[in-house]
Parts: sequence; C-alpha cells; structure tokens
Amino acid sequence: MQMPIPNANVLARKATIAARLRAVLPGDAVITDPAETRAYECDALTAYACAPLAAVLPRSTAEVAAVLKICHEEGVPVVPRGSGTSLAGGALPTADCVVLGVARMHAVLETDYDNRFIRVQSGRTNLSVTGAVEADGWFYAPDPSSQLACAIAGNIAMNSGGAHCLKYGVTTNNLLGVTLVQMDGTVVELGGPWLDAGGMDLLGVVTEATLRILPKPEGARPVLVGFNSNEVAGTCVSDIIKAGILPVAIEFMDRPCIRATEAFAKAGYPDCESLLIIEVEGSPAEIDEQLARIKAIAMTHNPVEFREAADEDQARRIWLGRKSAFGAMGQINDYMCLDGTIPVSALPFVLRRIGEMSQDFGLDVGNVFHAGDGNMHPLILFNANKPGDLQLCEAFGAEILKLCVEVGGCLTGEHGVGIEKRDLMTVQFNPTDLEAQLRVKDVFDPKWLLNPAKVFPLEATASRRAV
Ligand SMILES: Cc1cc2nc3c(=O)[nH]c(=O)nc-3n(C[C@H](O)[C@H](O)[C@H](O)COP(=O)(O)OP(=O)(O)OC[C@H]3O[C@@H](n4cnc5c(N)ncnc54)[C@H](O)[C@@H]3O)c2cc1C
Repeated sequence: MQMPIPNANVLARKATIAARLRAVLPGDAVITDPAETRAYECDALTAYACAPLAAVLPRSTAEVAAVLKICHEEGVPVVPRGSGTSLAGGALPTADCVVLGVARMHAVLETDYDNRFIRVQSGRTNLSVTGAVEADGWFYAPDPSSQLACAIAGNIAMNSGGAHCLKYGVTTNNLLGVTLVQMDGTVVELGGPWLDAGGMDLLGVVTEATLRILPKPEGARPVLVGFNSNEVAGTCVSDIIKAGILPVAIEFMDRPCIRATEAFAKAGYPDCESLLIIEVEGSPAEIDEQLARIKAIAMTHNPVEFREAADEDQARRIWLGRKSAFGAMGQINDYMCLDGTIPVSALPFVLRRIGEMSQDFGLDVGNVFHAGDGNMHPLILFNANKPGDLQLCEAFGAEILKLCVEVGGCLTGEHGVGIEKRDLMTVQFNPTDLEAQLRVKDVFDPKWLLNPAKVFPLEATASRRAV
C-alpha cells in the first residue's frame, strides 16, 4: 500500500510544532517520544504501520480547535483517532502527521429522556453510551462488534453498523447532531437534539455528538438455524426479507467460522455448512408470531437444525459464538476482514463465487456477516510472515469487492474506505463522481491537511496535496 512521501519541511520543524502544541495543551497531552508515538502507529488494519510525528490528547472542543489552528498554520497533516479499531486503515498515520486522539473526551454532557437523546463527547465508547442510560431502561442502538472499545467519533466517521442495525439503522440514522472543528480551527454545530434539525455533512474533527436513544424493547429472542449449504442459507435470508418480516438481526456464519468459534468459545453450534442467527423483539406474543413466520420460511429450506432460545442462558449461548468469531478466526491465522455490501438476493451467487475465488487464490476464507442488510465480511486468512501472502490476500480482497459492485452493491457497508479500499474507488465511481467528491473536500479542507491520504486514490489527489 503506497503512502505519500512525508513532508521533509514538517519533519525538520518537529520541535517547533511540538512547542506550539504544548503551549495550548497540558504537558502530558502532547506525545513526541518515538517510543510512545509507536502506540499510535496503526489501527486494527495492522498490516500497515507508521508512527506519527506526534500525538495529542485534548480534553475539549476548545483544545481541539487550538490544535487544528496550529497544524493549519504550520501545514501539518492531522489524522483524527477515536479508539483505533478501524479495519480500513482510516486512522493510519503518516510520519509527518499529528494524530489527534479524542480518547480523553468521554463525558456525558446531557441526557434527555423526554426528547430521547443523549449528548456525549465523541471519545466516549459506543457501549458506554448505552451504559449511561440502561439503568433507566434505555439504549443506544448501533452495536458494532467492537462496541466495547470503539468510540462514537470513529462510529460517526465510518458510519458504523452492527448486528442490530437491520432494524434500527446504522450510525447516521441515530445521529442527531454534532459539534465539529474544521481544519482551520473553526467550530461548527450541525443538527441538534431533535429530528429534522437543520444541518449538512461537513468535514472536520467531531468533538461532541447528540445521539438518539430508545426505550429498551420488552423482550428479545434469537433462533439459530443450521443449513448444509451456504447458498440455501442465503436464499432463506432473502426469503425472510422478501416476506416483509423485519427481525432485529440476521447474522450469517459459514463452516470455517463455525468450526473456529466452536473450538474457541464452545457455544454448542452444530457442525454444518452455514448457520443463521435471527433475533426478533417485542412483547412475548409479538415474538411468538414473528418466530412462527420465520420458522415456516426456514422449514421450506430443510434446515439441519432450528433451535429457539428457551431462556436467557440459551439466548446468550446462541450469540456467544457469533460475538467471538473475529477473535476465534484470529487464533487460526492472520486475517483481513473485508466489508462489502450487496443486494440480499445476490447472497447465494456471491457466496458461491467467493468459494471459487478462494480455491483460485489458494487462501482460505471464512464468512461471518450481517446478512439481513447484505453487509458481507469475508475474513481472508493469510500468513503475514510468508513473503507475498499479504499481496495475494489484498488481490483476493479486491476481487471480492469488485464482485460486490458488479452485482449492484458497494465497496463498504460499515467499515468505511480508509486506505484499504482507496484504490478501488474508481471501480464504484467514475472520474466525474470522484472529482465532485474531491471538490467537496477542497471547500472544507483547502490545504488537504485533514487525513489527506485516505478515501481517494493517491494519484487522484497528488496535485491537491502538493499545493
Ligand atoms: C473486532 C472488531 C469488530 C468490528 N466490528 C464492527 C462492526 O460490527 N461494525 C462496524 O461498523 N465496524 C466494526 N469494526 C470496525 C471499527 O470498530 C469501526 O469502524 C469503528 O467505528 C471505529 O471506531 P474507532 O473509535 O476505533 O475509530 P478509529 O479507528 O480511531 O478511526 C476510524 C476513522 O474515524 C476517523 N475519526 C476518528 N475520530 C474522529 C473524529 N473525532 N472526528 C472525525 N473523524 C474521526 C479516523 O480518522 C478514521 O478515519 C470492528 C473492528 C474490530 C477490530
């Protein structure tokens, strides 16, 4: 993966830049020692790493604005960072950049149950947003599997989703407003605590967010449905959606993932080709009615198992394997987690093609994903210590993502573009589309200092970054 050559002029002025940052932040909030900046050298796309010039950890919008103003004046690129769990390399630094981490900005600023919102600083972790309101019977719906660690800031930047987003929508559907700071230090308020508050998408560093919260449902119950064919499982998903049923989640796992998670988490999954975890919510009567319809559809596909959770413990065990899947796959080998979205009806075809490509490339792949909204996460296994394996894995990944676009889907469902899919943007967008996107960035970040090496192919942005 190519990254821009660091600006030698910025590298030479490291001491001056650090001194200016220390003048506006507490001493321990500016990190320049190479032994410590290494902690920020990558996100969860660990195949690429580069320690930044410095990392800063402000505590307020005013401090973020002061940092950005200095970087803008000094011509220093800035890479914002939440918790560093991006799988797309969105938070990967360059050697001449300042990483602006919002981890110290985690306060709850306001909770309003009458108007169903919570306002938090953007470094607050996803799960702790629900943690702040659950005792009162409320929750924040978007639930990335990384929710224990990832921050609302990263969720907003990547428009993150999760298992329960089939029903509740992804981050953008639950975000009411933000405070953000533009690259020149200007503070902007967008949206507000109520739906339909005015606002636009702008580019900047998010410091505060107003999020929609919901009353917890009366109850929820998952079922596990096992199949002896990926394609049949895919068709079953498609049939459930076609029937107009809206479960809160439909998750899919194939045999490699099922076996890996069984060895790791011992959730009691059947040894079958693929399984679906389908969860519905509501009153006991609503749950019974929805599950009866789902069962009727599933039975037309001859599942090898249809297991309905009879109590809390069984429900927990059904989810246990799914929630452990990424960790379990990581025990087998290095892996790259892709994130492409396809029309649900294309699931059977795409799963078959991924299987064929896996044989062509000679790399194993496990599939675990949010099937209800067609958001696929093929996990390609490779050996980072074997020369050429990473490149082979990337080539395989690129073919899968091109396939997603070919069948009418897109390059990302929830992980964003970062560096990982940057060079594939031309597959989804023609030159005119891309130029329009570049011009939007020109308006809000004319010097191209805010995370400049991400999202767009480097050659498309070279002339702008050079200026
Ligand atoms: C095991 C695992 C499971 C995962 N499961 C899911 C899942 O189910 N669904 C899902 O959607 N994702 C998932 N992810 C991916 C990742 O957790 C999400 O993309 C998450 O939103 C990243 O949040 P973060 O705070 O870690 O952001 P970071 O990794 O720190 O940054 C992500 C991007 O946001 C930008 N950014 C960070 N802070 C700001 C800010 N204040 N203002 C503007 N931009 C900012 C960064 O520059 C970067 O481009 C998973 C990751 C892992 C490791």
